[in-house]
Amino acid sequence: MDHGLRRARLTARLEELDLDALVVTRLPNVRYLTGFTGSNGQVVIGRDGAVFLTDGRYEEQSSHEVPDLERRVHRDERARHLAAACADLGADRAGFEREGQTYGEWERLAGAIGPIELVPTGGEVESLRAVKDPEEIRSIEAAQEAADLAFEQVVAGGLREGVTERELALELEIAMRRAGAEDTAFGTIVAFGEQAAEPHHEPTDRPLGRGDVVKLDFGARVNGYHSDMTRTVAFGELDPRLREIRDVVAAAQAAGMKAVRPGATLREVDRAARGVVEAAGLSERFPHGLGHGVGLEVHELPFLRWDSPEGDRLSAGAVVTIEPGVYVPGLGGVRIEDMVEVTEDGGHRVVGRAPRDLLVL
Ligand code: ZN
Ligand code: ZN
Repeated sequence: MDHGLRRARLTARLEELDLDALVVTRLPNVRYLTGFTGSNGQVVIGRDGAVFLTDGRYEEQSSHEVPDLERRVHRDERARHLAAACADLGADRAGFEREGQTYGEWERLAGAIGPIELVPTGGEVESLRAVKDPEEIRSIEAAQEAADLAFEQVVAGGLREGVTERELALELEIAMRRAGAEDTAFGTIVAFGEQAAEPHHEPTDRPLGRGDVVKLDFGARVNGYHSDMTRTVAFGELDPRLREIRDVVAAAQAAGMKAVRPGATLREVDRAARGVVEAAGLSERFPHGLGHGVGLEVHELPFLRWDSPEGDRLSAGAVVTIEPGVYVPGLGGVRIEDMVEVTEDGGHRVVGRAPRDLLVL
């Protein structure tokens, strides 16, 4: 992975922003720019150089992970060291990440920075991260492969009556770990029957019964990269209303995927899918955005929503989920979610191979 190239891209952006340095404190951004995987690291990117900072726990680890940068280990207040790095890089105007730190951390940085002007920035590294390189795509595919295998082993092969949501979630998580995941991507969602009416549901001890809809939203992490998929399957005959909803959601997902291409606005992709749900009279039952980027974070830029920044567009190399859902209290809910890569040839490619037709078990 060419961290130097990524930093060079950010440096070019600093020039456009008329900044001499950027203090990067959000951990996924630090990892993206340096390769550091620990829990306390910062990097200050200057016009012609960069300084990596961490605490004593990561002195050894960072010597392997960040061999190409000057490294400083702080044993006291980090703000003082961030300020010193800005000064050493010759900064008169230094940007900081609005989303990167707490108010207290910002206060300490502002107190330590002296005559250097501090300028808030938003989404600079996140925008670079939105377009993946081939190595990042391979890691996302590997994470999805672990999830696909787990789905085949734990769900598609058959579900047993009486298994609880929590047991099924655990089985999926173990299967993903066995398939090579370093961790789950997020807390696995398993919802049976009427509980599937909650878009995000914490698994409970509710047992599976005949006629239940089963909604599973899960993912794995490989090399720091995430996967994210949702399948809704039927355990026996479903209520006809749920079968209808399932057909609407499947049609909405297909319409959303069809709208994915380089240059499509984020809003228009959401609209393409949402229009299908609206035409079925169910728009009130689709309370979330259509999808999100996936990478070093499970939810990252770009976000496919009705209120995404107007004019923001998809670029080739982005990996986004397409996940319409319809939820009816007392009855249940259906969501289908897949990741797609926006491809140069003007379309998209689905990441993963789990079938999307209704699986009846
Ligand atoms: Zn999901
Ligand atoms: Zn998602």
